Amino acid sequence: MTEGIVPVLDAGLQALREAARLSPDNLPLRRHLGEQLLAKGYLAEAEAEFRAALVLAPRDLDVTAGLVDAFIRQSAYGEALAALEPVLATPGYPPRMGVLAARALLGEGDLGRAAYRYYEAISRDPSVADPEVATALTIPAAGPAHPAHPANATSSAPGAPLGPVAGPDAAPAAPHAPAAAPAPAEADGAEVERSRTTFADVAGMDAVKESLRVKLLLPLQQPELFAAYGKRAGGGVLLYGPPGAGKTHLARAAAGELGAAFVSVGLADILDMYIGSSERNLRATFDLARRNRPCVLFFDEVDALAARRSDARHTHNRQIVNQFLAELDGVDADANEGVLVLAATNAPWYIDVAFRRPGRFDQLVFVPPPDLSARAAILRILCRDKPLAEMDFEAVARATEHMVGADLKGVVDRAVEVKLHESIRAGRPVPMTTMDLLAAAKAARPTAVREWMATARNYVLHSNESGAWDDLLPWIKGKW
Ligand code: ADP
Repeated sequence: MTEGIVPVLDAGLQALREAARLSPDNLPLRRHLGEQLLAKGYLAEAEAEFRAALVLAPRDLDVTAGLVDAFIRQSAYGEALAALEPVLATPGYPPRMGVLAARALLGEGDLGRAAYRYYEAISRDPSVADPEVATALTIPAAGPAHPAHPANATSSAPGAPLGPVAGPDAAPAAPHAPAAAPAPAEADGAEVERSRTTFADVAGMDAVKESLRVKLLLPLQQPELFAAYGKRAGGGVLLYGPPGAGKTHLARAAAGELGAAFVSVGLADILDMYIGSSERNLRATFDLARRNRPCVLFFDEVDALAARRSDARHTHNRQIVNQFLAELDGVDADANEGVLVLAATNAPWYIDVAFRRPGRFDQLVFVPPPDLSARAAILRILCRDKPLAEMDFEAVARATEHMVGADLKGVVDRAVEVKLHESIRAGRPVPMTTMDLLAAAKAARPTAVREWMATARNYVLHSNESGAWDDLLPWIKGKW
């Protein structure tokens, strides 16, 4: 913080600060101080002031707008959108908030949603038009635009600190990088993210969410209770199911739900053509998670790393498996305290049984393809911040049988793209309809859930002695 700098530079601000210090519950005063700090470019202080004012009045629109503006001007676009979320979820929200959302979305390079928000806002109130946002929207070829803000226009603003925003879920203030991107922490191939998605963003899967809550979240949220029963936070969960069913989405949401760091590791991050490096990468990745605890450490396509040792044709693969097991066990009992290891696989039957021992991936969770009502719920989530006319989600869900979450996302993205072009041509938002989604669904081809179910059926029927795949039984008996 730059505690000492503001008073020296500006006596007026100093007086305001002093007054706010003496009456910390005076909302108009604190809001005014925040606005003054913002106007003069003291962005981090303005942010702190607005945050404090928001505690006094969580629904105050001016305070929210000030906080969002402070975030945008620090390039913390993800934070800005998170702060706007409750406002934008309210029907008839003030159009100026829509313009702020458009600026943040532009910062993230999300031209489509920015255009929707902007045109929707100015169609309700033309006086909130922002020429710089409009310009950024009409030149799509220019690539991700940087949002316009007064600090860009006025060179008199002092060089307020643009460093990372304070707070546990702060996004890095990288002037030209979208805030939605993971916050780069260190090399080692993996990065530390702060997830903004929570279980509320995951449609359906109530049983899956509940079991993750018990396994992962409660031990960290109520450590005393678990300690009393001699249980510790840690251990791992293996998510399995057809590709695109939402395993990664769920893992990220678990981190967000917990307020934990999220480290996601793909196969390419670990496997290395030079013998020995893969093991080093694996160790570095676990260490990264341990330094950022509480942390959800997520391994995608884990079957490739944890293949049965008898199947591993090369001693090289065996070494990786052994290293992986060693890291899961940790050098001492506390090594992985607060590190929750989640792994996803489309092919759980290839995974070495040694991984399923207690303390390792001792829980298998099936992430099923969505049924009719889950598809409708996923579509509802995917469309929730888009301008909609009438929308019959059930009808679209019926027309998307055998599609998984990733397919549905593709359908919505395609429909949005069509509408975006229409909106730009019309100069106003053209809301999306059931027909638009149905047309996009017709053009899409579902990923291979059927084939996956056929393979699963084979494995379950021939190798379910231990009952490991019991969760799958009702599904493979269904019609696919
Ligand atoms: P997987 O890891 O199983 O291959 P993903 O998690 O990558 O699948 O899912 C792809 C996308 O589908 C996600 O980014 C998300 O947008 C969407 N999606 C999948 N399942 C859900 C769900 N239950 N609720 C909301 N969105 C979902």
